[in-house]
Amino acid sequence: MQITDIKTYVLQYDLDKRLGYSQKWFKTRTAHLVEVRTDEGLSGWGEAHGPGTIAIANKAIIENVLKPYVVGMDPFDVELIWHRMYNGIRDYGQKGMPLQCMSGIDIALWDIMGKATGRPLWRLLGGKFRDKIMAYGYGMLFRDSPNLAKDFADEAAGLVRAGFKAIKMKVGRSVKEDIELANAVRFAVGSDILVMADANHAYTPREAIPLGRRLERLDFHWFEEPVAPEDYEGYVEVKNALDIPIAGGEAEYTRYGFRELIKRRCVDILQPEICGFGGLTEYKKVLAMAMAEGIPVIPHVWGSEIALAVSLHCVAALPDMPGAVTPTQPMVEYDTTPNELRDHLAKEPLNLLEQIKNSDGYVTPPDHPGIGIEPDDDAIHKYRIDK
Ligand SMILES: [Mg+2]
Repeated sequence: MQITDIKTYVLQYDLDKRLGYSQKWFKTRTAHLVEVRTDEGLSGWGEAHGPGTIAIANKAIIENVLKPYVVGMDPFDVELIWHRMYNGIRDYGQKGMPLQCMSGIDIALWDIMGKATGRPLWRLLGGKFRDKIMAYGYGMLFRDSPNLAKDFADEAAGLVRAGFKAIKMKVGRSVKEDIELANAVRFAVGSDILVMADANHAYTPREAIPLGRRLERLDFHWFEEPVAPEDYEGYVEVKNALDIPIAGGEAEYTRYGFRELIKRRCVDILQPEICGFGGLTEYKKVLAMAMAEGIPVIPHVWGSEIALAVSLHCVAALPDMPGAVTPTQPMVEYDTTPNELRDHLAKEPLNLLEQIKNSDGYVTPPDHPGIGIEPDDDAIHKYRIDK
């Protein structure tokens, strides 16, 4: 089988109201889909992480910089293709956008391998360790509001009513305001729900540590990206000062970047963005390094139904860490904010919200060959901005 072409599609639509986190406000949602075509008529789909204008720029990187390394290759040669691409861009971009582009292509190759062999991605990754995966509801983003604490409390209570047993809220406004928001959410959902806080690297260790102590008292389950992704020593400082697990990694790239997070023991939970940090081929390497150091992995998810499905397969195929009769189970991240590019993209949607409602907060990975998400032509036509 030979790869004949790569097509990319930047999908975008406007939200009714702007949403925010500690680094920015946004009023559009974007997804950048990558289609790798072959001479046998099989196409694979991937997704390259990166919003708005980042996706527009990434389209040019895929089509102009990376495509020549990939066309003519056999899609099963994922290692060869990954290293050809990386060696081609290494001198110019070892992190960030070029890696997002490589990720989208690499994921599409795994989709082709699954379709060609009739096997779901979780089987290509080595088998399913679990059929039921707890989904955690990511929400509570900043918005224009006269009473954000009340909004957060109402939204959190709504997620629990929708079936979620675990939820994640944004922090990173100021330590004082974060504590008020965290209190409101904990009070709204009671003590049985797992609650996580995500600062998107808004703080220095001197701010993150006292905030983390307050989150501990509220029995929060993890504190995500407390400090800047480049500040490895800051991570260690925060982690050593606190009992609450520290999560991070969504802004880290490749085995080389993750080596630092893992070797220096910066985090208690690693969150690789598979559609951004290097794709599935690189994920296997980072997973092996994390396991060798005893650091659990829970992939970061942001994007279309393709990104969500990839994560679902990966969490299904995650070995127990560590093994036990009743091992601690990984979760899958589910973004509960409005996202038509997830809900209206696939010919056969995953309908995870329905599963969460009916299965006590749990979802099951798809069994279709490959990633199991085939984008609908009409949906691509409707949302595409790069025609
Ligand atoms: Mg995050």
